[in-house]
Formats: sequence, C-alpha cells, structure tokens
Amino acid sequence: MSAGAQATLRRALPAPDAAAPAPGWRDQLITSLVVLAPLCALAVAVDRFWHHGIGWFDVVLGVALYAITGLGLSLGYHRLFAHRSFRARRWLRIALAVAGGMAVEGSLISWVSHHRRHHLYADRAGDPHSPWLVETGRFRRLRGLAHAHVGWLFAPPSSAATRWSKDLLADRDMVVISNLAPLWILVSLALPFGIGLAVTRSLSGAAMALVWAGGVRIALLHHVTWGVNSLGHLFGKRPYASSDRSGNIAWLSVLSFGDSWHNSHHAAPALARHGRDRHQLDPSAAMLRIFESLGWASHVRWSTPAAGAAQALQ
Ligand SMILES: [Zn+2]
Ligand SMILES: [Zn+2]
Repeated sequence: MSAGAQATLRRALPAPDAAAPAPGWRDQLITSLVVLAPLCALAVAVDRFWHHGIGWFDVVLGVALYAITGLGLSLGYHRLFAHRSFRARRWLRIALAVAGGMAVEGSLISWVSHHRRHHLYADRAGDPHSPWLVETGRFRRLRGLAHAHVGWLFAPPSSAATRWSKDLLADRDMVVISNLAPLWILVSLALPFGIGLAVTRSLSGAAMALVWAGGVRIALLHHVTWGVNSLGHLFGKRPYASSDRSGNIAWLSVLSFGDSWHNSHHAAPALARHGRDRHQLDPSAAMLRIFESLGWASHVRWSTPAAGAAQALQ
C-alpha cells in the first residue's frame, strides 16, 4: 500500500489515556507467575514425554480444554465481547466469558479494554502491544517482538474500563465474571486435576493431567494468542488495506481458532469471520455457525457492515 493510501486510512486519533503508574512488585510477581508457571509445566512435560511418552487420556483432556478455553477467548472475549460481532443468549455469554477466563489471560474487562485500545491505535503511539514502537537501538525488531509478545504484560498501559468497556460495565453478569478472574484460574487447574483423579484413581495420574491439560495447555494458548500480537504484526500476507502492519499467518489459524487471519480482521474488525476467504480455516466462525443454527447466537455480522460501522465497533 502506498504512503498516500496509508495516510488516507489514518484518522485523527484521540489522545491515549494518561500513563499508567508503574506496576508494584505484587503485580509483577503475579504476572511472572502467570507467564512462567505454564512454561515450567511444559519443561516437566517434555522431560516426562522423553522418558515415558504421553497417554491418550492426557491428550484428549488437553485438546478438549484447549478447545473450550481457546473458543472462550477467540469467540467470547474477542469476537463477542470486544467487537460485538454477534449476539448470544445470556447463558452462552456467561459460558464464553467463563471459558475465556479459564485461558488465564486476565479478566474479561481488562482484556477487552486493552484489545479495543490496540485496534484504535494499532502500531502507533498508544497501542499496548505493537512490535513497531521500539524505534531505536540495537536489535530493535527483536526487542519490539519481545515487547509485543510478552514484555508489555509487565508494564501494561492504563486502559480504563470506564473509557474502553462502558458496555461491559453496564452488564452485571460480565462485571461479576470479570471480577472473579482468579476463580476461573483455579477452575482451569482444578478441572484437569479432578477429572484426572476421577479417571485414573491415582494422585500421579491426576498430577500428569494437571501438567498436560493444565500447564501445557495454558502455555500453548498463551503463546498462540501472544503470537498473534507479535508475529501477526511483523509477518504475514497483507491482502487488505489497513492503517497498521497486521498480517495473515496461515499456519497459526487452527491453533488460534481463526484469529491469526489478523490483517483481514484489522481491515474489518466487526466481522464475525476472520478467515474471509473460503479456504481460510476459521474454527471460531465454524462454531458460531452451529450456535446460530441452534438459535443460540443471532445478529451475526457475516458480511461487511455499512461504511463506518466496522470502525464504530472497534
Ligand atoms: Zn492486531
Ligand atoms: Zn480484534
């Protein structure tokens, strides 16, 4: 895209929120734990796999929980709550919000606030996690990648819910679920342990279920989501005009439930289907079609909204 075309896409942006106070040691400790503990579980799992392999039970449970929490993030946090790409029955909204919380990526309202902010300022000052804002010094691309992937979590900007998520603050269900974020982390770990204990009837079986279907599953989804933020703004094809550097990364499409069609998404954020071409795999959109046919979801934005509507819903 030419510089002129880029310029015409740029809108006059409102000023970013005031700078957030530096996070205290307690916040840093919690963030470190959330980032590092699943990686420690992954290290244990790799060692275990090397010596003993992995049982079918752990594979099936891990994949099932990955799918539930991944859809909670992609279809729930991202498409339903951040972009309002469709409407869902109350029980489905609650289920998707809880499933998203079990992905251990922060509370619903903070996730949505940061994400809406990301779309408004994408790859410009004010974007919470652009890899392009490190502009000087050695290895700036690599440092930008690290910031976009995980570094920003340690010094997140102030994305005030009163500015970014007024609609969710007005929804009592969502406020309660968002405030209960620590509980969903507990559920996310207790579920594999409890199911593992019930099925294998042994503490070691429960522990391995916790490692694979808890820690490894969380680690994988973390880095897939964060990979869309980092790799998805540095690499990938750009079939659509957008005022940022987003790209489509095909090999991440299944693991990200379709969210890695990131350039297509940035070009029309309100669309429910991110893989806009027929051959582009988009598991969240496929699941949404099922929900729609069952009457659980409605008002789905399958086609391009009227001019301006997509931007209004960022
Ligand atoms: Zn993006
Ligand atoms: Zn988005």
